[in-house]
Order: sequence, then structure tokens, then C-alpha cells
Amino acid sequence: MVLKFHGGVHINAKKLFADSEIKYIDNCWAICIAAGEEYSLVAEIGAQVYGGELLGFSDGTPVYASVSGCFNGVLEIEGSLYFTVISDGENNQTPPYEPEQRALTQLTKEDIIFAARQFAVMDSRSGMPLWKLLSQTENCRRVVIDCTEPFPHSALLEQVCLENARQLVYGSKILLQATGALKCVFALECGKKKVINAIGGYAHDEKLFAAAPLEEKYPYTDRALVYALYVKNLDMNETPAENGILIVSAEAAIALFNAMVSGMPQTRRFVTLCGDGFENGGNFSVPRGITFHDLQVICNGFPQDKLIVKNSLLSGQQVAGALDDSTIAILAAEDKKIPQKPCISCGECANVCPVKLFPAEILLGKSQRMYEKCVACGACEYVCPSAIPLMNLIKTKEGDSNE
Ligand code: SF4
Ligand code: SF4
Repeated sequence: MVLKFHGGVHINAKKLFADSEIKYIDNCWAICIAAGEEYSLVAEIGAQVYGGELLGFSDGTPVYASVSGCFNGVLEIEGSLYFTVISDGENNQTPPYEPEQRALTQLTKEDIIFAARQFAVMDSRSGMPLWKLLSQTENCRRVVIDCTEPFPHSALLEQVCLENARQLVYGSKILLQATGALKCVFALECGKKKVINAIGGYAHDEKLFAAAPLEEKYPYTDRALVYALYVKNLDMNETPAENGILIVSAEAAIALFNAMVSGMPQTRRFVTLCGDGFENGGNFSVPRGITFHDLQVICNGFPQDKLIVKNSLLSGQQVAGALDDSTIAILAAEDKKIPQKPCISCGECANVCPVKLFPAEILLGKSQRMYEKCVACGACEYVCPSAIPLMNLIKTKEGDSNE
């Protein structure tokens, strides 16, 4: 049965780079890993570091070099702070820790949170460190592994799950052990039958694991997943964690398993470079913090006549600096200048809003603190027949309120 949810848009799109194996990229000029509000250095500025070496801490989470080279400290680039390593092109890596030797059943929640923090495993769905997500989840009954694409053109997660089905299932078992949850659900688009079969090859216990085929609509917000899976409407400020549901990206589950069995922190990320005009696009595994300059080199340059956005063409967030921990797709979009027309009160924007706002009210000066609830998915703008930049207007209100 295909599971449905409120809001979002269905987009008929040809998958780009479907069946394209993940290419592993080691060579890059530099890596820049975002530093949080509170950071500290462990490695000396100017020191030669190897891949996996501890550079410092960012908001309580270790930061490791993802390539070998010269550590340049924390630098401000385009208004943001980054731990920066200039690569030496050698890609020397050394696991800094021993692999976990204990049986999974011997590990406590604290052990696994400690491991997730030590290995700096990041959740690409939320952009948060996995250890913080696990720490916030009390009385967890369900673990949901998000295997959905950020956008219908993308086939990255399909490929990641196919090539890493064993790691995905074993990582999910670690999350079940950490949370004490009774069941793990793999949430994915209903068309991903090959992924369901691949996961089923390792997730034999039907009481413990299930695949949840979702209708193909974007975006898959927390509210969408919780409603589709558990027919539960989250209140505006309610989180899945408050309802005993932990939602984690497939990438995080894979990275947690890989780190615990190898002793190597998460120093790599999956990303797809796709859209019209990408000459050498595809699905990639790259060093964490790879710069957009290096990503351009991989794909022979980003198309000049397009907008280059991250994760979803709907949200239109343009790329800058380096690959952050919540970006899994770089997409090319037409920079269409459609003339804006007056609102015709069709209500389409409200129909697709995943958080049940009526975006057109922003045009009447009724902000109703919409900027606090808006998840900036861009669905309202996408369907508006009058080409009104609703999301931008809502977010501008946010800017006004912060002044
Ligand atoms: S108002 Fe915000 S959350 Fe609702 S559809 Fe528009 S961008 Fe998405
Ligand atoms: S979709 Fe556009 S035209 Fe229709 S009600 Fe919303 S703002 Fe108005």
C-alpha cells in the first residue's frame, strides 16, 4: 500500500543518473568544514595532518580532516567560518580509533551516543550531529530511516541504498539498540522496488524491520513522514522525537556502522550533481567539506546559464563556499524570469503547503508569524499560477522581525 500525506507537490521528472554507480573522489584542492558558534582547535595551525586526524571541536562535536594536507586553522570565507585543510594530493588516511569489538547487545545507549559523537557522524537530513539527535530522543518507539531523494530528478539515495544495503541495515540495528525502539521503518518513494528488495536481503526480521513506500511528492518533511507512517498530525511546534519517533538519514545509519567497524570517523559525504547542463554530473562520494570549486572541477564546471541550487529546485537555495552537512544534491535550475501577476485566490499554495499555512495571506499583510512555521520548501511558489515569490515574501518578514 502506498502511504499518503498532506501537502507537497508531485513532479513528473525523469531521473537523472539513475543506475549511475557512485564514483569515489579523493582528489581536491581543499576542504572547508563549517565551524559552529563555539569552536576550539586541537591541531596546530600550519601542521601537516592526515585524513582522520582531529582538527578541533565545533559546538561539542569533533572535527576531523577529511583529506591529508596543511591545516590552515579556522578561516572566514564568504562570511562563514570553516576548519580548512589545503590538500597535499596524497590522501593519507589513518583510523584514529580501534574498531568496536563488543557485541551489539552489550552496547548501551550511552556507548552508542559516545561512538556517534567520537566518530562525528552527521545526519544529512537535519544537518545535525547524530549524537545530539540520539540524546534528544527519549522513550523512542520507532526509528525511521529516510531513504527518500531530496528532489525527484535525483537518484542518489536509490544508488546509495543499493550499494550499501548491508551497512544501512546494520547501522539501523545499532540505532534500534541505542534507542530501545521496537521497530525500524525504511521510508522511501513507492517506485524504489529494487531498494526494498536490497534492504530485504539483510533485514529478515519482519517484526523489527519494514519498508514504507510513500507517494511520490516533495518535500518529505518530518510532518509528512509522521503522518504517512503513523497517521499522526504533528502540532505546529511538536517534534517527532516528542512522539517517540527518531528520523535519521540513510547516510547517517551507513556512516555510523562504517565508523564503528573501522575506527575511522565520518570523513566522506554522498552528493549528486545533476540537472540540465552538467557535463560530468552523477552520484559521488566526496571528502566532507569539499569546496564548490572542487565540485565544479569534477563535473567540468557548473552550467553558466543556470541557477545552481542545493537539495531542491523548489527551495532555490543557492550554493556558496563548501558542501555543508545537510546538502546531498547540487542541481541546475532554469533562471526563468516569469512576470508576476496578481493573486487569483486559487488556493493552490495552501493545498501544497506541508505545514498547513495559507501563504497567500502574506500578500494581505497578514504575516501571522508564518516565517516561524514555514520550512522554506518552495512548494507554494512552484504551484502559484501568478508566479508570486511567496516563500521569499515570508522569509523577508523573518528578516524584518529580526531587525
Ligand atoms: S509557506 Fe513555506 S512551508 Fe508552506 S509551501 Fe510555502 S515555502 Fe513551503
Ligand atoms: S497560488 Fe498564487 S494565485 Fe493562487 S492563492 Fe496562492 S498566491 Fe494566490
